[in-house]
Amino acid sequence: MTIQLHKGDLPAGLQFGPIVAIDTETMGLNPVRDRLCLVQLSAGDGTCHAVQIPQAHGANDAPNLVALLADPDVTKLFHFARFDVTVLKAHFGVTCAPIYCTKIASRLVRTFTDRHGLKDLCRDLLGVELSKQQQSSDWGAPELTREQLNYAASDVLHLHALKDKLDAMLAREGRRGLAEECFRFLPVRAELDLAGWADTDIFQH
Ligand code: MN
Repeated sequence: MTIQLHKGDLPAGLQFGPIVAIDTETMGLNPVRDRLCLVQLSAGDGTCHAVQIPQAHGANDAPNLVALLADPDVTKLFHFARFDVTVLKAHFGVTCAPIYCTKIASRLVRTFTDRHGLKDLCRDLLGVELSKQQQSSDWGAPELTREQLNYAASDVLHLHALKDKLDAMLAREGRRGLAEECFRFLPVRAELDLAGWADTDIFQH
């Protein structure tokens, strides 16, 4: 696993192919309150590009990253996209699309379990043990530790392999179309989260 750390934005001209795995690290779990600290990206080739977002960073300070997030020809592959898409919308004002979410795919096909965490999927589908030790560390620190960067990279390195497994299950169970419609709704779900409906299921009676 190779990690390349970038400050503030991706370098110009970097290509990730048709599907880029993305994860974010923030100061906490509230996208309105907690600032974005790190965006990890991988083409699925074992390399992670990590973009560190400094405290004073603004919506227009990462044009290369934002162009990739909005590129209609590049699928943004997340685990629990709802959170990352909301955080990226809050920070950059960008609508991520198109999207694939391994957590939603797992919920649609692995109905025999209620374990849909990234750690669960990596263990059950790939036989890979992920460490979650650095999950709740200080991602706003100006210098991230080697342990933090390794952890952050590990969150994007397996998403392509997971997508392959989940795609096969979605096809087998005839739920590919349903999954695609759920993925398409995610930017709206992110807007609802930011607009004050985070804890409300608007489809509920
Ligand atoms: Mn992560």
